Amino acid sequence: MKAEIVKALQDIVGEEHASAAESVVHIHGKDQSDHERHLPDVVVWPETTQQVSEIVKYAAANQVAITGWGAGSSLEGNSIPVNGGIVVNFGRMNQIVKVHEGDFQVTVQPGIFYKDMNKILSRHGLFFPPDPGANASIGGMVANNAAGTRTVKYGATRDNVLALELVLPNGEIIRTGSRSIKQSAGYDLTHLIVGSEGTLALVTEATLKLSPLPEHFSAVLATFETTEAAADAVFGVIGSGVGPAALELLDAEAVRFMNTRVTDLPVKPTLLMEFHGATEASLLAELELVEEICAECGSLRFEAGAGRDERDRLWEGRHALGEILFSIYPDCNYNIIDVSVPISEFPVLAAYSNQKMKDLELLGTLFGHAGDGNLHATTFAPKDDPLQNARLDEFNSLVVQKAIELDGTCTGEHGVGIGKQKYMVYEHGEGAIETMRHVKKMFDPGNIFNPGKVISF
Ligand SMILES: Cc1cc2nc3c(=O)[nH]c(=O)nc-3n(C[C@H](O)[C@H](O)[C@H](O)COP(=O)(O)OP(=O)(O)OC[C@H]3O[C@@H](n4cnc5c(N)ncnc54)[C@H](O)[C@@H]3O)c2cc1C
Repeated sequence: MKAEIVKALQDIVGEEHASAAESVVHIHGKDQSDHERHLPDVVVWPETTQQVSEIVKYAAANQVAITGWGAGSSLEGNSIPVNGGIVVNFGRMNQIVKVHEGDFQVTVQPGIFYKDMNKILSRHGLFFPPDPGANASIGGMVANNAAGTRTVKYGATRDNVLALELVLPNGEIIRTGSRSIKQSAGYDLTHLIVGSEGTLALVTEATLKLSPLPEHFSAVLATFETTEAAADAVFGVIGSGVGPAALELLDAEAVRFMNTRVTDLPVKPTLLMEFHGATEASLLAELELVEEICAECGSLRFEAGAGRDERDRLWEGRHALGEILFSIYPDCNYNIIDVSVPISEFPVLAAYSNQKMKDLELLGTLFGHAGDGNLHATTFAPKDDPLQNARLDEFNSLVVQKAIELDGTCTGEHGVGIGKQKYMVYEHGEGAIETMRHVKKMFDPGNIFNPGKVISF
């Protein structure tokens, strides 16, 4: 059967662009999460939307599972092909179709990596703000509704997608949305697909909103004696109405880890912020207010106005944190919590998570995109220690339950994938989940698109 699939796909994309080689299927069997590897039967690299459509028609006719693949950097098993079948790697569909410079928009193929895209867009004085840190593909960011350090000012991926070209599970090619900033014409299919993790449609083109690169900016560091005080300051800053372009919370452990490779910061709970101003004067006025708020929350140190190099180094450290953690605890199972709550509840959530991590004596750290209420409590347990592994799960469930009690969500940006399915009914209720099942069945009656993800049947 496997040989038959390979042959059929090679007939569509050419011999060298479909493979079942051991090393190829191994790489495409696992994302960056701790979920179990599942090997696909075949990996295929289409070059055109028409080829994607033909691949999907073949899969539909033969009831073979089909899973999209961008950079494989998901953190919840989103891109793991749990039922095997075909993985569609969009790496050859990685072109900018058109920069609509005057409208601050770009149309791209899904396989382009956002950092590469932003490098090209910087020549036009523009950038795509959602910033997940890992060099993710646009298709993967759209599918997961990725967000990141800049979401507090510029929104998540969903807020920055205007139009999509899609291949449906029967192979039909459709377009959704338009390049108009305002759209009110019927059901919003574009934003239904954003965040659907490749379970409803494959994205073959996306038109994105861009922002002008800021002329005046300042990175800010504020340190505090406790994580709780830093979390209070997060609410203070956002509640005051100033608009940070980034507001990250790092507990002392997170700072210590960043210092092992990139930075040289005082090992204290820290807020790493960035502000963008239309003028130097408006920027300075904002910074003054932020300093006052941090002082009221007991900041020990407040530093603003770092130069471009220092600012870049701070963000490099922040973005490297995930990988530093994985390298420090190589023989451990891990869990990356991704809860998000209304900003007024963020201090409660941070204090609760900090206390529970201590009570359960877990290795790990608290950090997150605090400005949008998003906390990544990341914990580790040695693989051969069943007690600590049980505590890892207990901590995950306690923090997720707390976030949902606080009117928040089990996942702010990583998506449901495999790991968060167990919380879906608790968060949304049985009625809403049943409605999601109807939506999935309407798009994909044969359940061939990324089966086993988002909702269970
Ligand atoms: C160190 C590190 C830090 C991270 N930090 C963040 C962060 O701050 N914020 C954040 O949001 N995420 C973060 N992530 C997670 C990850 O980068 C994002 O989820 C990203 O969106 C995944 O993109 P990808 O290209 O790797 O997609 P993949 O992992 O390849 O796929 C993601 C999902 O999209 C589907 N898919 C891929 N391409 C398509 C397509 N063309 N059409 C339809 N479906 C498709 C896949 O089937 C899968 O369900 C981080 C990851 C790492 C490793």
